[in-house]
Amino acid sequence: MMICLSCTESTLKADLELIRTNKDFIDAVEIRADFLSPDEYSLLPELPSSAGVPCILTFRLPADGGMDSILSAAGRAGVMTGALRGGWAYVDIEDDADPETHRELIKTASENGTRVIRSFHDFSGVPENLVQRMIDNSDADRCIPKAAVMPKCSGDFIRLAEAFQSLSAYRANSMGYSCTGGPFLSDYILVGMGAFGFPSRIMAAAWGGMLTFASAGKTTAAPGHISPRQMVCDYNFKNITAKTDVFGIIGNPVMHTKSPMLHNEAMRKNRIDAVYLPFETDDPASILDNSELLNLKGLSVTIPHKQKVMGLAYGLDEAVEKIGACNTLVKKDGWFGYNTDWKGFLKPIETEKLGGERALVVGAGGASRAVVYALLSIGMEVTIVNRTAEKAAALAADFGCIGGGMDLLPRSGRPAGRASGFSLVVQTTSAGMEPDIDQNPLPGFDFTGVRIVYDIIYAPDETRFLAEARAAGCRTINGFPMLKAQAQEQFRLFTGCEME
Ligand code: NAP
Repeated sequence: MMICLSCTESTLKADLELIRTNKDFIDAVEIRADFLSPDEYSLLPELPSSAGVPCILTFRLPADGGMDSILSAAGRAGVMTGALRGGWAYVDIEDDADPETHRELIKTASENGTRVIRSFHDFSGVPENLVQRMIDNSDADRCIPKAAVMPKCSGDFIRLAEAFQSLSAYRANSMGYSCTGGPFLSDYILVGMGAFGFPSRIMAAAWGGMLTFASAGKTTAAPGHISPRQMVCDYNFKNITAKTDVFGIIGNPVMHTKSPMLHNEAMRKNRIDAVYLPFETDDPASILDNSELLNLKGLSVTIPHKQKVMGLAYGLDEAVEKIGACNTLVKKDGWFGYNTDWKGFLKPIETEKLGGERALVVGAGGASRAVVYALLSIGMEVTIVNRTAEKAAALAADFGCIGGGMDLLPRSGRPAGRASGFSLVVQTTSAGMEPDIDQNPLPGFDFTGVRIVYDIIYAPDETRFLAEARAAGCRTINGFPMLKAQAQEQFRLFTGCEME
């Protein structure tokens, strides 16, 4: 299984520099001639001998996601035909390209030992005829069929995973026309673009595709590309096989999450044959119900699915029932749900001896419930304030503590900390989180007397609220230790091993 670097610079010199800096991580390169400036075309024949890895020549037209070009289809075919005498391993031609215009190109490919990749793109979804169209494309001169499709929902992603399965099964049966009587399929390339398709870029290794694409230049060649270094270092790509256990995180959006880096590093250090992927998910059931297809063993769950998945699990631990949110699912006979947020939250304050003291919790969303549960579990007296007073009051009623609007606190400029006797203030709202880093849920809060201020936001490192607390002399804690500690707890549940 190859990692193929898509090169999208405007000069071949810059493409070669990209190849050189990524050479430890790549097995092939695709030169996107549509990104080159026209005066570079005459240099294309020399590229393969300088690249040092198998090269794919691609000249995409705008309709297939390519750059605008002054060339007609015939002009493009001429440039590619001229380049092929340089020993290109592959040339990519769209399956709807006019046969007459491309006759000379295909003949030249055959004479030079260049294999033809016959491709199509669908930016609107995953077409019903995906598998059949690829099989049909493989028939033409034993081409390598390629499709790049754009899953728009979890259901589309599952159909894409099934397409890999169908193509690999077809290939196993078609080693020689005699078995099936249909087209012969040796290699194929299937790409799921965008956030919903992302896991297929990593799992292409296990699912039977010939290669996966990556980008490393200023321009990303297609939606969802990551760099070859990320493929290898963040996703353990080179070690993934059909036997590799799959873990991941479901949420929407989810591509910003740092969880794959934490879990994949721990998998590697513990020598566990597993990979952890971000699954952008609009329908958790469609992912959970297809655990066999995806070889899924465990999932982290994030916004907005923490409540919804509770109804999909056959069993839940006590903390999930009390908090009303499930952030971890482990595959046993069915899916079993846990909550590790509350334990993760306590980790950075476990040596502080806060039992019996007073805590102020700002915010009454999903994370706040885990925080309140955790603080009560260590014997703190908890007050909850929230922008929407009713939500804080309802949360407080659920847990038997005090809760209401911000007016529960003394007004700005008057002592809040000492007057109220809070030794701990926990900020659990999303106010101040990237990209809205100027927001502050409690402007003018007086930190006098407050020992520890804990903001569970981890991006940015220091919110405005936390910066004010630090300036006031409080010990401050951001959300990263919580994120790490809840991931450590999840890792223990997933694998029985420790994440450092
Ligand atoms: P949520 O359920 O959507 O709740 C959002 C909370 O923020 C609500 O209380 C909401 O108040 C409040 N809020 C939003 N914008 C506000 C504003 N401009 N001013 C004042 N209050 C505002 O979200 P969540 O799941 O609880 O997550 C909240 C934050 O915690 C996020 O930043 C998330 O990244 C972070 N988090 C961190 C970890 C970690 O491991 N470190 C774990 C989980 C969550 P209303 O009720 O009035 O709308």
